[in-house]
Amino acid sequence: MGHFVIVADNFFTGFKRNVQHWIGHPNFELIRHDVVDPLMVEVDQIYHLACPASPPHYQHNPVKTIKTSMMGTINMLGLAKRTKARILLASTSEIYGDPEEHPQKETYWGHVNPIGIRACYDEGKRIAETLAYEYQRKDKVEVRVVRIFNTFGPRMNPEDGRVVSNFIVQALKGEQLTVYGGGKQTRSFQYVHDLIDGMIKLMNSEYSQPVNVGNPEEYTIGQFAEAIRDLVNPKATIADLPMPKDDPQRRKPDITRAKTEIGWEPRFSVMQGVEETVEYFKSIVDIL
Ligand code: UDP
Ligand code: UDP
Repeated sequence: MGHFVIVADNFFTGFKRNVQHWIGHPNFELIRHDVVDPLMVEVDQIYHLACPASPPHYQHNPVKTIKTSMMGTINMLGLAKRTKARILLASTSEIYGDPEEHPQKETYWGHVNPIGIRACYDEGKRIAETLAYEYQRKDKVEVRVVRIFNTFGPRMNPEDGRVVSNFIVQALKGEQLTVYGGGKQTRSFQYVHDLIDGMIKLMNSEYSQPVNVGNPEEYTIGQFAEAIRDLVNPKATIADLPMPKDDPQRRKPDITRAKTEIGWEPRFSVMQGVEETVEYFKSIVDIL
């Protein structure tokens, strides 16, 4: 699109190889940086995406997760304020916790356990939203807030630990697919290209309230394991492991707001995305 892009990453969960093909491009700059520390650069749009999103990763060092969302967001809002840049905050469906409203609309305030093992992520993102709207009210920072629902796709870390990559990698390796807690819980998965389109549309829109970006196609985790097994390796078996604490029972976005306010809806079916992601994991199979 002709923009100049600065990527700041501490590589806690990402890899340099994911942006390798841009290195050397005259419009591209990569810096190793942790958003917990101040960042002095000149910019006019900020996509603030920092924070591990996979439960095993964000629970690895919970206080660091909170610092990333809290201090990281203060720094990015400070940067936006000084440079008068517009900032898009990557928020999450986890804002809704274990939801009592289904599907979830942006007007729902959520049902989060503030002292549970997911709180470092959920409450971190909730305070990040609070900060964004206070900087908007007080300092007139232009904020955009996207609430991202479960997303997957190529260039995901095979060790990510979330369900889509786990099941695909397990099926490719001929291992058991690890369903947690009987598999009756539901999730709604979106392919990464749809998310990126939604984020760019929201950034460049005049709409400033939070917007759900997710695919409303809802699966039980048990059904999803069977679908991936059938597609990738029909001989693979399915194991039943214990349910992690505070695991939300149901999740599905209401995307009316995205449709009406920013003209976005998903273009990929979940299984189209899974097929392309399977090809990606096959291509890196020697590094698995
Ligand atoms: N900040 C930053 N880059 C900038 C401007 C600010 O990282 O270009 C950081 C700054 O270090 C501060 C935070 O953003 O800790 C919040 O900035 P703000 O101006 O809101 O607060 P103040 O500097 O008054 O504490
Ligand atoms: N899950 C599973 N097996 C796995 C990883 C996750 O059954 O190997 C379940 C998990 O308990 C949850 C759902 O799949 O109910 C989605 O988990 P994920 O970690 O992908 O995302 P989140 O819980 O944050 O939505």
